[in-house]
Amino acid sequence: MTRIGIAAVQGAVREHERVLSALGAKTSLVRRSEDLAGLDGLILPGGESTTIGMLFEEYGISDVLRRGEIPVFGTCAGMILLAKEIEGSEQPRLGLMDIAVRRNAFGRQRESFEEEIAVPAISTDEPIRGVFIRAPYVTSTGAGVEVLGTLDGKIVLCRQGRMLAGSFHPELTDDLRLHRYFLEEVVGQGA
Ligand code: GLN
Repeated sequence: MTRIGIAAVQGAVREHERVLSALGAKTSLVRRSEDLAGLDGLILPGGESTTIGMLFEEYGISDVLRRGEIPVFGTCAGMILLAKEIEGSEQPRLGLMDIAVRRNAFGRQRESFEEEIAVPAISTDEPIRGVFIRAPYVTSTGAGVEVLGTLDGKIVLCRQGRMLAGSFHPELTDDLRLHRYFLEEVVGQGA
């Protein structure tokens, strides 16, 4: 059985557990670096990226994840933590993806909204539903980064090998396909 950890130092955890269990994965919560042992993949949930980043450093989680051996799916704050570059910020990060991100990038009018995102790698006719909450987007990508989804021309979903990053919260909908993609295509392929 695939074992997926969910980083649980701060932020939304329960909904990811529900989705992963529905897909037949075994889940566990990650609060300390020891909790990473034996995992096939890890979800970095939304929350406050500055807080999560600081706690990851303090608990030694960053050191382990920076080895790049555990496939990671970062959503929202998780995307920010995966980025090498965070616009205007020196906050702690994992820096596992060659992407630059802008925090709270959709502005005050669009603090929280729901939108359908075309993700051809998953389906050519049925878009993914995403909930955006003070969401970031990607402003630039390096050569190894595959753009999987955009919204109004902004990159909101991308992948680099074992790392997958999304601006939005797929776990807050009934759409399981993005988590399934992570399990089957990212964790499963060991890319
Ligand atoms: N705005 C938050 C941050 O910058 C992310 C919001 C979220 O994860 N929903 O960390």
